[in-house]
Amino acid sequence: MPESPTFAQPDQNALLLPFAGSRREIAEYEANGGYSALQTALGMTSEQLVDEMIASNLRGRGGAGFPAGRKASFLAAGLDRYLVINGDESEPGTFKDREIMLRNPHMLIEGIIIYLWMIRGAGAYIYIRGEYAKEASILEGAIAQARAKGYIGSPLPGTDYVANVYVHRGAGAYICGEETALLASLNGERGQPTAKPPFPAVSGAFKKPTLLNNVETVATVPVIIGMGGAAYAGVGTEQSTGTKMFSLSGHVRNPGNYEMPLSATYRDLIEGKGGGMPEGRTLKAFVPGGSSMPILMPNQLDTGLAFEAVVAAGSMAGSGAVIVVDDRTCMVRFALRTAEFYMHESCGKCTPCREGTRWLTELLRKQEAGLGTLAEIDLLLEICNRVEGNCLCVLGDACAMPVRSHINNFRAEFEEHCRLGRCPCPDDAPMTELYPPLLKAPLPMVHAG
Ligand code: SF4
Repeated sequence: MPESPTFAQPDQNALLLPFAGSRREIAEYEANGGYSALQTALGMTSEQLVDEMIASNLRGRGGAGFPAGRKASFLAAGLDRYLVINGDESEPGTFKDREIMLRNPHMLIEGIIIYLWMIRGAGAYIYIRGEYAKEASILEGAIAQARAKGYIGSPLPGTDYVANVYVHRGAGAYICGEETALLASLNGERGQPTAKPPFPAVSGAFKKPTLLNNVETVATVPVIIGMGGAAYAGVGTEQSTGTKMFSLSGHVRNPGNYEMPLSATYRDLIEGKGGGMPEGRTLKAFVPGGSSMPILMPNQLDTGLAFEAVVAAGSMAGSGAVIVVDDRTCMVRFALRTAEFYMHESCGKCTPCREGTRWLTELLRKQEAGLGTLAEIDLLLEICNRVEGNCLCVLGDACAMPVRSHINNFRAEFEEHCRLGRCPCPDDAPMTELYPPLLKAPLPMVHAG
């Protein structure tokens, strides 16, 4: 893993990272207005803070896009309520939360303390991806600085409320980014999804009412309290307010994280910020929101970044990971790489996902090697239909949706593999530019009969 992702450049539209470099030191963060939103929040009641969040119409930045204010209002009453911050960021192509934690950890911590004050929480746990060792260390350092300043571990000014914040490192499982699996892992159980209800708002961390939010969502709270919910809602679109971080990767001149107003388009991001395609290459497709999302085509570049705009275009905004694919790329191989990832990360708890991701991978391996048949292309689609919507959590869908969209948009390329008995792409792009290397372990055969 590289030392750090490409840093976003300062941007007049940026609210989360409107500066170059980092603000890891609390003195620097405070000198630029840091922790002033907390002071404002301490003069507000829980109800006022929830109302401000609802007025902002902030939608969760982890993938689902659920309204954060409404989520906070669901929290069941109880003496012990917890806040859990999802920093497990494992969706291929996504590295935005990493940059927030690397460069602006105090903004996340200020957001956590405001959230804790809002729910009068017993404590907050930042569940961070195990591979993010450096980011975990930076957060520990920032928490120590906030503790020394009296923001954590001692009564907040003018109150008798004490905020407690802890970092909990995961162990490298993609599925622990799913909320029930994350909470199971935090509770010391096997990190597998569980059926809902009970929802985390009723039974979550330590079986207590829990509010679970993504890193970027929580880091946005000081912005909302600082500028006011209504003013925040004035940025972006009516249904997708504010700015959002996008991780731009793949075949683009300037990959990196970019904070964009949600009123912008994918063309603004890919061609404007990303500088467009490498010399001599053309756009073949792009992934709009993480590897689990259906791909979009070049004629959809003017699709808005807003949640509702991406849905109208036939996909989802997801985690904000935008992967650009140029004309060299074999789409069969790209589908295979995606399916392999989800097969590897399936927790195995439910049959459609455990078996379906394996069958998809096995058939795609045949297709990619030129050993598949035309009938098996339809079989792939049938398996996608049997997996999607029939699993305990969304991992099964995360495998089926992109595979189906690859076939539907590039069926001729799949058929060409079958007819020629080999990959027809003459100049296949190195897939390491899109994803890590293919899995090396042989796939156990699961043929029936
Ligand atoms: Fe596990 Fe997959 Fe079922 Fe989710 S859908 S519970 S990852 S087997």
